[in-house]
Amino acid sequence: MTSAQGTLSIIIPAYNEHEGAAEIVSFYREIRASVPDLEFELVVVDDGSTDGTSDALVELLRPEDRAKVVVFSRNFGAHAAISAGFAHCSGDAALTLSADRQEPLSAVHSFIEEWRSGADLVWGLRAVRSSKGGSNEFFARSFSTTFNAISTVPTYPREGPSHILVSRRVMDVLNAMPEQNRNVLAMAAWTGFDQRRVYFEQLPRPYGESRWTSAKKVKLVLDSIVEFSAVPLTWVLLAGFAMAGLGLVALVAALVMALVGAQGTGLMLVGVVLGAVGVQVVALGVLGQYVSRAGDDARRRPVYIVQDVR
Ligand code: UDP
Ligand code: MG
Repeated sequence: MTSAQGTLSIIIPAYNEHEGAAEIVSFYREIRASVPDLEFELVVVDDGSTDGTSDALVELLRPEDRAKVVVFSRNFGAHAAISAGFAHCSGDAALTLSADRQEPLSAVHSFIEEWRSGADLVWGLRAVRSSKGGSNEFFARSFSTTFNAISTVPTYPREGPSHILVSRRVMDVLNAMPEQNRNVLAMAAWTGFDQRRVYFEQLPRPYGESRWTSAKKVKLVLDSIVEFSAVPLTWVLLAGFAMAGLGLVALVAALVMALVGAQGTGLMLVGVVLGAVGVQVVALGVLGQYVSRAGDDARRRPVYIVQDVR
């Protein structure tokens, strides 16, 4: 590693993680001690926890830790929490970690090394996932591959990133981006700049269940696609054309069959009508995803509400 480069802010979104509070603080202190020529700052964002996460942290933190706990008024989701971390930190760069200590110290060092060698954005990718081979991994990979193929952010890693280090100039751009339904990692990819990758082995979650529920994952997938790709609208358009073409062929076939007195005309028409209706309903659904997010952006509500900074 080369010379000191200022301050690195460690950003941790935390939702009902009071069991991990002691580990968060000790891991942060371990990081600091292991890179003595860098200044550190800790920003934990309590994403509307109901289990006393922020109390547990405030109890443990000391002024010399240079730490703050940003408390949301309710649960806004991890991407809103990470966004708040970027907005509330003062570092020359910021690294996101999770509250359940699933990242090894060596991964933190790899991030710092890439930053020090000039990267503006460092992707953290799990070479080994703690939930290996499960539906989670399948889900994450399918999404990242599709997203990579159809989105306007081709630098978004196919492997499915879990953490990110961003330089101050990337953060400044992110802090000025207003979208309500956000995948903050995709937004970071969108900024361009020099992007590098580090791979690490994800440690098992030491307690409790993942706070990242299926409903939240589905929402993130839809947010990511709608905010960064218009390709599904093209698919709908093409499906409409295909269905209309098929309908025309079936209609001609039905007319011919009726003329020659063959059976099955009615069934054929029912099939065509059902197919056409299906395509229309899907089209409306896809359109609805785009329109509702446009509505959210038009309303310009805050992405999160900070109740307290402790
Ligand atoms: N998280 C959050 N808000 C939520 C869900 C999760 O801030 O609504 C945080 C959580 O506390 C953790 C990080 O996001 O620090 C990743 O969540 P988790 O470790 O549960 O997910 P996984 O390891 O399964 O990706
Ligand atoms: Mg985790």
